[in-house]
Amino acid sequence: MAAEIEAARALTWQVAQAMDDGHNVEREAAMAKLFATEMAVRVTGDAMQIHGGNGYTTERSVERYWRDARLTTIFEGTSEIQRRTISDRMLGRTS
Ligand SMILES: Cc1cc2nc3c(=O)[nH]c(=O)nc-3n(C[C@H](O)[C@H](O)[C@H](O)COP(=O)(O)OP(=O)(O)OC[C@H]3O[C@@H](n4cnc5c(N)ncnc54)[C@H](O)[C@@H]3O)c2cc1C
Repeated sequence: MAAEIEAARALTWQVAQAMDDGHNVEREAAMAKLFATEMAVRVTGDAMQIHGGNGYTTERSVERYWRDARLTTIFEGTSEIQRRTISDRMLGRTS
């Protein structure tokens, strides 16, 4: 879990640096958003599993973390749209 979080952080910082350096990062930004949000769903899901049934209840904040993580794959561009953006840029499509 920690390794996945670290990988997402590294990718995000790499894209941010490239953007600061003036590069076009449409493809890489979509990759970072896709990877970080889907990673967050996996990691918070694992955290919920660790807590067992208790983790699923509102008595533990882990259910809120999982729900919030799940939303990040939907808003600000769904995972499907990020995949579309990545493949479009890789195939040289403009839209
Ligand atoms: C809690 C919450 C807060 C939100 N806050 C905001 C906000 O502050 N500002 C704002 O503007 N919006 C906000 N939204 C809206 C959010 O951005 C949209 O829900 C999101 O863009 C998806 O659009 P949709 O729900 O209309 O799904 P749809 O566009 O109907 O998509 C349904 C499904 O089809 C897939 N899909 C759609 N088109 C394609 C395609 N071309 N190729 C492949 N798959 C496709 C989608 O990925 C999705 O899985 C919020 C949503 C929620 C739930």
